[in-house]
Amino acid sequence: MGQTMTLDALALGQRPSGRTALRARWILGHAGGTHRLLENAELVIEGQRVLYVGPAFPGEVARRIDLGQVLVSPGFVDLDALSDIDTTLLTVDYGPGWAKGRVWPQSYVDRGPYEMYTPEELAFQKRFAFAQLLRNGITTALPIASLFYRAWGETVAEFEAAARAAGEMGLRVWLGPAYRAGGMVCTAPGVLEPQFDEARGQQGLDDALAFADRIAGYCDGLIQPMLAPDRVETCTLPLLRRTMAAAAERGLPVRLHMAQGRMERKTVEALHGTTAPRWLATHGLLHDRLIAPHAVEATDDDLRLYADHGVTIAHCPLVYARDGEMLRSFRKCRDMGIRIGMGTDTAPPDMVLNMVIGLMMGRAAEGGAAGLTTAEIFDAATIGGADALGRADLGRLAPGCLADIAIFDLSDPGFAPTIDPVQTLVFGATGRVTRAVFVDGRLSMRDGKVAGIDMEAARDQVQRQFEGLLAKYPDRTWGHPAVTDLFPPTYPPVMAD
Ligand SMILES: [Zn+2]
Repeated sequence: MGQTMTLDALALGQRPSGRTALRARWILGHAGGTHRLLENAELVIEGQRVLYVGPAFPGEVARRIDLGQVLVSPGFVDLDALSDIDTTLLTVDYGPGWAKGRVWPQSYVDRGPYEMYTPEELAFQKRFAFAQLLRNGITTALPIASLFYRAWGETVAEFEAAARAAGEMGLRVWLGPAYRAGGMVCTAPGVLEPQFDEARGQQGLDDALAFADRIAGYCDGLIQPMLAPDRVETCTLPLLRRTMAAAAERGLPVRLHMAQGRMERKTVEALHGTTAPRWLATHGLLHDRLIAPHAVEATDDDLRLYADHGVTIAHCPLVYARDGEMLRSFRKCRDMGIRIGMGTDTAPPDMVLNMVIGLMMGRAAEGGAAGLTTAEIFDAATIGGADALGRADLGRLAPGCLADIAIFDLSDPGFAPTIDPVQTLVFGATGRVTRAVFVDGRLSMRDGKVAGIDMEAARDQVQRQFEGLLAKYPDRTWGHPAVTDLFPPTYPPVMAD
């Protein structure tokens, strides 16, 4: 019947040969269109896929692993997955953005914007971010990063490095370098204007398409392409037309940030005389492979368009809650029939934290607990994201599904008492109890360790790299203030004599 062992017996980064039975106190399986909780049950992995979920497996297995007091759960699907050393953190207590390096001043545009990281640093930050996602139980990621510190868009070279990193580390990804035909420029204090370069946008799309055609299905299907035009206000109609046509031809998901902020709303209104979703709908550019973060500025008309055209909202509660903003509301969107997936978007890239904040904000938006159920937010982080990608074999654990699994340690003393394993996890508000992760049947993370990266050394490199970036902030900030004036400490520092 196979030897009983612990998880330590498996090799990190490897797919175990033969069948592996995972025995656990709780397993979140899937049947009849919903997640279902099993107690004292087994899940059997064979190759890349789940073979069985249920009571003790009667067939032969190569090994049986007793996991104890854990929740075996489908790994999370992150539609807006933080993939750089987060700079959004620098906006939380500092603003306005134009005065703090979040909008390029005309003087920086005139001198010629430059890459603030080296190619090696760009590759490293993706690798580090991928490890962080795995450590938080995220098994599928659509990376997102800031373009503010870039010369223009993302490069194919860094995405080729990202594809290699995801393959080595064992993270399922949809990859596409972000491109744009324009950018916002600060021309006077508080005055922001879009400036466009159509040719550059079209070149970005050409490069993204060549990359997409090259990497599709790389690594046994672990790496898939997507198209990632950056924010809607930096895209032109010809660029979006070609993007959506190419995506339809190839069946690719497209991620486009829209209805996400007040500056965008004002800019799109000035350029096109309407909201971004209405502008796209008018030109027949909304479709059911479109993933649109974040909908916090969506009007009722925008939401109806999302419902009519099958657009998925990528919901990222943490990054907005920090600024006192929220999706209004999760309940309303679901009642309208809009699909909702989730994203991390900022540091910490913690889906559990995002779920609990999403749950609280969703209830606050409706003024009561009827605003949202724990099952709905958990579904969004698993099934919602998988369905947005058209993948019924992701986001759930049933025979035939890919073995993308997160194992959460519920024996953690901080998690006592357990009420119900899913509630305990969500209300516990941290993904740090992620004990292990399987992706595509491979053990990608165990006890915080990920194959292909030394997290201790990486932590130091992240800090060095971040400080290097901070030192360049004055170059791209209006009036070029000193870093100490841009980002003063929370409390005044003690001055040395
Ligand atoms: Zn976002």
